[in-house]
Amino acid sequence: MDLPKVFKPEEFELEIYKQWEASGNFSPSKDGKGEPFCVIMPPPNSNGSLHVGHAVFVTLEDIMVRFHRMKGQSTLWLPGADHAGFETQVVYQKKLEKEGRNWFTIPREELYQEIWDFTQTNKAVMEGQLRRLGASCDWSKERFALDPGIVKIVNQTFKKMYDDGLAYRGERIVNWCVKHQTTLSDLEVKHEEKEDPLYFIKYGPITLATVRLETKFGDTAIAVHPDDERYQQYIGKEVEVDTLIGKTKIKVIADEAVDPAFGTGAVKVTPAHDPIDYDIWQRHKNEIPGPMIVIDQFGKLDLLKHFPDNEAAKKYHGLKIAEARKVIAEDMEKAGLMVKIDPTYKHSVATCYKCSNVLEPRVLPQWFIKMKPLAAKAMEAVRKGEVKFVTERFEKIFFHWLENIRDWNVSRQIVWGIRIPVWYKGEEIYVGEVAPTEEGWAQETDVFDTWFSSGQWPFATLKTTGDFEKFYPTTVMETGWDILFFWVARMIMLGLYVTGEVPFKHVYLHGLVRDKDRQKMSKSKGNVIDPLGVVENYGADALRMALVFGVSAGNDIVISEDKIRAHRNFANKIWNASRFVMMNLGDNFIPGQIDLEKASSTDKAILVRIEEVGKTLTKHLDNFDFHLGAEEIYQFFWHEFCDKYLEEIKPAFAEGAAEKAKVNTQQVLFKVWLASIKYLHPFVPFVTEAVYQMSPAKQKEFLMIEDWPQN
Ligand SMILES: [Zn+2]
Repeated sequence: MDLPKVFKPEEFELEIYKQWEASGNFSPSKDGKGEPFCVIMPPPNSNGSLHVGHAVFVTLEDIMVRFHRMKGQSTLWLPGADHAGFETQVVYQKKLEKEGRNWFTIPREELYQEIWDFTQTNKAVMEGQLRRLGASCDWSKERFALDPGIVKIVNQTFKKMYDDGLAYRGERIVNWCVKHQTTLSDLEVKHEEKEDPLYFIKYGPITLATVRLETKFGDTAIAVHPDDERYQQYIGKEVEVDTLIGKTKIKVIADEAVDPAFGTGAVKVTPAHDPIDYDIWQRHKNEIPGPMIVIDQFGKLDLLKHFPDNEAAKKYHGLKIAEARKVIAEDMEKAGLMVKIDPTYKHSVATCYKCSNVLEPRVLPQWFIKMKPLAAKAMEAVRKGEVKFVTERFEKIFFHWLENIRDWNVSRQIVWGIRIPVWYKGEEIYVGEVAPTEEGWAQETDVFDTWFSSGQWPFATLKTTGDFEKFYPTTVMETGWDILFFWVARMIMLGLYVTGEVPFKHVYLHGLVRDKDRQKMSKSKGNVIDPLGVVENYGADALRMALVFGVSAGNDIVISEDKIRAHRNFANKIWNASRFVMMNLGDNFIPGQIDLEKASSTDKAILVRIEEVGKTLTKHLDNFDFHLGAEEIYQFFWHEFCDKYLEEIKPAFAEGAAEKAKVNTQQVLFKVWLASIKYLHPFVPFVTEAVYQMSPAKQKEFLMIEDWPQN
């Protein structure tokens, strides 16, 4: 068959994908050469469409999967989608706000159902987009994070942890977002440099410095450093203090955590509203009162429950933090309690990583996971080489984090997610997969941190598809380095805990996608590349090649429209060169032996080169050096095969050329061309499949299941 003259990827990419999928070849072969090969797809969040970062994982994972499939291994790439708890809440809450609706007043079941429908719609769109990028994953095994089978496993894990003493309910000071009305884990806290006034205020005979004037109603002590000469006379004693709401007595304690160089060296201790103060209280429980909550969950002063008959307190009750701070500062100045104000104090503030609001610490009962024992096993597995990081520097970062890990708050006060399988009746607690049968038990309203379930994704998915025995531990986890702690480390810890084995043998972390000036892509900068738009204009192959070319593991991925256009030209080159090859082979060509003795020096040379290139490429792909592999075959195909070899053999096909020599060259030409498109296939699957389908001598139904020549 003739190849159309003009290269139009939009005309064949969709059709080819349909044929691949219908053929069943995305499913793992029953038998296979060597070790089974398995990649679990990082499940995209089902709250939006794919961005260029997703196109990176599709490209890299599809390269691996196609390569190992062609090598003859039984190969599984398991796709999925995440419910993405809090992240989905953020997206959906915004949507509701635009519609003038309030997230917090919609009944729980109604809201859940709405979000369910929303995520299922998104998920369907996303699946189409993954197909459009050429992902050769096994759709028959696709899993969603809220599938009953997955939820059951997640609940079983939690129950096991509770029984083993690893999951516990504790009242702690936790990170609270006033806008989103939920706690966040320490990883979800963004530390930002801010400039605020630093107030130097009088506390009886002592002057102390604070930013948070509004929490002073909840102070339970003054703290100084034990060696601070200035305050020795007060340590252990109570001082009398004038406040805006009357006189009170407050104790001065000594604690190493106080920095004598900060402010005046004396600080107020507010255990309910500051994590450091909370820790100070933990160390001085016998000396000072515990947390006194004076700010409510909405970030408003809540004073009347502590000071019900206090007329002065009424003025501040109900004020929002920023307003309260201003009013209190004015009133303290008037009352002569303000010594001075440093208006430009720079400090680091904990903010919500989604809405950037300053987090308001709260003391709440939450479910925690003890991480130290899990981390110890994970570190041991990595030390023993059971999990290998393709980029070594990430291993160091991994160890550093795990060595300093703290207990993980897995409770979220949100609707969307897996509800924690805990029931309460009075003081009693029941933990189990199913509700207790007797009356009177009420289920926990909190849901799990979404990463608690995605941390179990590899074994949970494989157990529900029946592939656990064959494919676990999986071969590679490929994902962005920015979720090394959120996801990769937790998968290793939870995988080891539940199955006794690591979830994957290799970790490949890719970098962030940046524009040609190395700027991060963002809507506000207007430099975002929409992967699906690019695919419409240039074809999926062009985008894939652009995402892998020049990009090594862990490093930033620089991409521009020019780069994508250049790779469209490369795909075009494959197309045109293949047309030339087919023209010169003719419709009746049959692959046969090459007579090496009679082969021309040009033919001999190209046969040697394709052998070498194949070996090098195979080595690169085995080592996860995808960019080196891509460059190797690109350079060979464009500059040696097209520019040189195809030019040099033109005389062999000229009119009047010797028939015998021509036949031999045809065999060489076919062999080198076929090997080339096989080698190119993992990178640019569509154009290579298209030209293969039109070749006069295709031996298999699809190029995607052809044999890898170097095996
Ligand atoms: Zn927030």
